[in-house]
Amino acid sequence: MIISMKLHATREEIEAVCERIREFGYKVHTIQGEERVVIGAVGVGDVTPCLESLQGMPGVENAMRISAPYKFVSREFKSERSRIKVNGLEIGGADFVVMAGPCSVESEQQIMQTAEAVARLGGRILRGGAFKPRTSPYDFQGLEVEGLKLLRKAKEATGLAIITEVMSDRDVDLVAEYADILQIGARNMQNFALLKALGRVKRPVLLKRGMSSTLRELLMSAEYIVAAGNPNVILCERGIRTFETATRNTCDLTAVAVLHEMTHLPVVVDPSHATGKRSLVPPLSRAAVAVGADGLLVEVHPCPDKAVSDGAQSLTLEQFATMMQDLAPYLNIWKQARAAEK
Ligand code: PEP
Ligand code: MN
Repeated sequence: MIISMKLHATREEIEAVCERIREFGYKVHTIQGEERVVIGAVGVGDVTPCLESLQGMPGVENAMRISAPYKFVSREFKSERSRIKVNGLEIGGADFVVMAGPCSVESEQQIMQTAEAVARLGGRILRGGAFKPRTSPYDFQGLEVEGLKLLRKAKEATGLAIITEVMSDRDVDLVAEYADILQIGARNMQNFALLKALGRVKRPVLLKRGMSSTLRELLMSAEYIVAAGNPNVILCERGIRTFETATRNTCDLTAVAVLHEMTHLPVVVDPSHATGKRSLVPPLSRAAVAVGADGLLVEVHPCPDKAVSDGAQSLTLEQFATMMQDLAPYLNIWKQARAAEK
């Protein structure tokens, strides 16, 4: 059950609703939204008597049954798309948002040159890893705080918002000081301590699908963040493991369409990790636009052959320019389709 309180519901009214829910034997999750308080009631058994009892209580706007286990993020809970605000732009709204940049922040020169190109070519958000999840402990682990500082410098120079990964619950506050969006990597999709910690910050979170995770599991992880108090979640399809070996992962574009049916949260596609091969990034980006994704997360590097991580899947700045140009007609159709939705 989800109970939306009226805009000006008093503290006493909210507490009375919570108490009533507990009397019926359900657990209470209260979310203080920007405008109103929303209360989730979770438990087993027939909720009808509780629902009926709540509906007439002072301060209650609406009480409804949600059958999906991922309650707050479900389409049942909210039928219109969520628009996540990031530095004056919206993800999930009327614009397709391209986030681009290197896999890892490597040097001032590398990130500044990339940021300048991303901003000039129509990207809206700069990506770059400062804390890197690497398969081998001997591989480059990221510049950490130094990398965050370089991202801030690139933001100051270009006005681009910043997305960067946070790997541990201990680093959430630190990374949130520098990042406009906190990225949760595929390997951490079910790091529940981290997900709970993200609920306590107000920064939007981009949650990547685990490489062997179902969409239901992805949404349950998103639910952890929202239930902990942060409704600003963006989902990311970054490819999953299958029997196919021609690509690094299999880009599950079906996921975009399915997720848009299951949830109101925005869904972006990362064609770089999904394919592992730069020649496949432009065609998969076009397909992501066509399937109705809300944006892209793309790896771009001034000199991919010298990249410390993921060079093979990184576009050069010139290739990124060409891709953005080639995407333009597809983005026009995307915009028309979005505008026609209402
Ligand atoms: C990345 O974005 O560089 C990254 C490590 O991605 P993923 O978590 O999807 O592997
Ligand atoms: Mn990468």
